[in-house]
Amino acid sequence: MDNVEKEKLEELAENLVYRGENVWEKVSEEEKEKIFALGEEYKSFLDKSKTEREAVQEIVRAAKEKGFLDLKELKDGKQIKPGTGFYAVYRDKAVVLGVVGSAELSRGIRLIGSHLDAPRLDLKPQPLYEKHDLALFKTHYYGGIKKYQWTAIPLALHGIVVLQDGRKIEVVMGEKEDDPVFTITDLLPHLAAEQYRRRLSEAIKGEELNVLVGSIPLKGEGYKEKVKLAVLERLNSAYGIIEEDLMSAELEMVPAGNARDIGFDRSLVGAYGQDDRICVFASLKAVLDIETPEITAIALFVDKEEIGSVGNTGMQSKILEETLYELMKITGQEVSLYKLLSSSKALSADVNAAIDPTWEDVMDKLNAAKLGFGVCLTKYTGARGKVDASDANAEYIAELRNLFNREGILWQMGELGKVDQGGGGTIAKYIANLNIDVIDCGMPLLSMHAPFEVSSKGDLYMGYKAYKAFWMDS
Ligand code: MN
Ligand code: MN
Repeated sequence: MDNVEKEKLEELAENLVYRGENVWEKVSEEEKEKIFALGEEYKSFLDKSKTEREAVQEIVRAAKEKGFLDLKELKDGKQIKPGTGFYAVYRDKAVVLGVVGSAELSRGIRLIGSHLDAPRLDLKPQPLYEKHDLALFKTHYYGGIKKYQWTAIPLALHGIVVLQDGRKIEVVMGEKEDDPVFTITDLLPHLAAEQYRRRLSEAIKGEELNVLVGSIPLKGEGYKEKVKLAVLERLNSAYGIIEEDLMSAELEMVPAGNARDIGFDRSLVGAYGQDDRICVFASLKAVLDIETPEITAIALFVDKEEIGSVGNTGMQSKILEETLYELMKITGQEVSLYKLLSSSKALSADVNAAIDPTWEDVMDKLNAAKLGFGVCLTKYTGARGKVDASDANAEYIAELRNLFNREGILWQMGELGKVDQGGGGTIAKYIANLNIDVIDCGMPLLSMHAPFEVSSKGDLYMGYKAYKAFWMDS
């Protein structure tokens, strides 16, 4: 009698209870190989895409290689037909990729949007100064960082300097094996008695994020700041620039070094900028791999998410609308843009926080995403009483559940921490403003926004599969 009851109980549990599944327990040996192969590709993408501009270059290079055409060069529907891939670059910091579907644009598009920018330290317009015979750069941090994490680690300099005549000088220093790196110094513990009394958020203050860049003075009498002058001389001989050129520049200090495997089993990736370049990579790879979809597929890669999706390269700009308008013009389809947008569906491809064994208290364990349990849907973001949230419609979630379950894609539902613990947002709310059904769908991370973030190769693989299935669904 006891045994029967036990079986019945297990049967009920099997049928009724939701259980997340671990990717590594679920996939075949053959799929495991694919997961690790994708991980290698991902790491090399990260190494080549440490800024939003570098990511755009890498995306366009990969798109051209697959035969995607520049939307600006397309004319009158002659070169464009179902299956044609196209791209449109905006100010070298945002890019839209698409594959024309077999259906009319009045059926809408299927949009996957991710962001190319990541937290970092921007050089100030006048960065260079000398103090105590050392040369330093002043910085202004970009996005939400824990400032103390950026000291005492090797940093690399990436970006562009635009000369008065419009010529662009690209700078990458600190990534090659024999390149010098830069660093922000921190106080030795022996003398940190006062610093220890500061709040953690102020352990290193914004104006203390000063980067060490040189120490050899020029020889001779006269001009006082000889270390600064020596640095300017080196910049001039390496890049042909003068100090004023730094005012028309976008130079970023980012953690130096390549992406690495983490763990004895190599299951995880450790690297800078995985928020949100893990979703950028997965959706790029997916859009390049799809055959002709029924509904036109659009991969949108935007800038400035980390500071509120503002500016003319962010999600709140009209980049998407302009691209769609151009596409309608080229394909000769007269559709109302409102109609097109409201018929569309979208995924906001952005990361969520995974539960951290050491910091589990900030999460509601029942609702937290876990590393290695698949791509993560996040119904709502926001803070406090869901303020500023994008809250996905239940009908839409049902549709996606159905799709992912049908396609054998492991997925989980996540939330950004306990109620009233904090919060955040993504580009989802701005996509929702366009009258498009949207939900956040991306990979969970540990150490989000840190110089070295952690993701699971298993989740990346499921994310890639999810994005592909979303575009090929009709
Ligand atoms: Mn993000
Ligand atoms: Mn972020």
